[in-house]
Amino acid sequence: MSDALVKFTGVARSYSDWPAVEGIDFEVRSGEFVVLSGPSGAGKTTILRLVWMGDLPTAGRVEVCGCSSDRLRPGDVAGTRRRIGIVFQDFRLLPDRTVFDNVALPLIVSGSSPAQVRKRVFSLLAEMELSHRRASFPHELSGGEQQRVAVARALVAHPEIVLADEPTGNLDPESSRLVVDLLLGIVRGGTAVMMATHDPRQVPPESARFLFLERGRLVNPAEWPEAR
Ligand code: ADP
Repeated sequence: MSDALVKFTGVARSYSDWPAVEGIDFEVRSGEFVVLSGPSGAGKTTILRLVWMGDLPTAGRVEVCGCSSDRLRPGDVAGTRRRIGIVFQDFRLLPDRTVFDNVALPLIVSGSSPAQVRKRVFSLLAEMELSHRRASFPHELSGGEQQRVAVARALVAHPEIVLADEPTGNLDPESSRLVVDLLLGIVRGGTAVMMATHDPRQVPPESARFLFLERGRLVNPAEWPEAR
């Protein structure tokens, strides 16, 4: 495997013989911001799911953090997922847990000590400007605040890559900008980010590498529709 964190080689994923994505080749390296763009149904979520190994390719090979889809050993998928953080469009916070608990949970599950958990969660909440919200419940927060909690949760276990699926899809323009800025900050810290969005204009062109998907295939930038 090359030193890429993520490498897709000739990847296809079909459902009932219909390819959701096919002929996909790309790499993602440490500290890269990769924006996966394209219209609804183009295959963005399918690609993120393949990176997370929530799904396996029906053709080709997916390599993530040293683990290869064609040579999976017991424990590989769980081990790979521990190196990945995920952010969703609909936040997916636990409604009956506080902000602190939502962010802390991945660390508690992985066996960190209470002192380690407290230190890490307090520091991330400060970074996300959410310290004053740590005892609040998700329903008491704005959408933008909930998404910042979700970003903190994705980062808490020091992932090598963060996957964000339409992370600004439910947010107003100002909150969207804030979330994109947080993702850019994550990249400056050395973590790779893959963000799927139907609207690539959310991300400043100079700060990311853009992959455009159309009907399950990557499109050459010269052939992009009006998006860029
Ligand atoms: P996007 O995220 O760009 O909106 P998706 O990756 O969700 O696109 O979907 C790509 C295509 O694959 C769509 O035609 C969708 O209907 C199909 N698809 C995705 N997941 C499944 C599934 N589990 N079963 C059947 N078809 C699926």
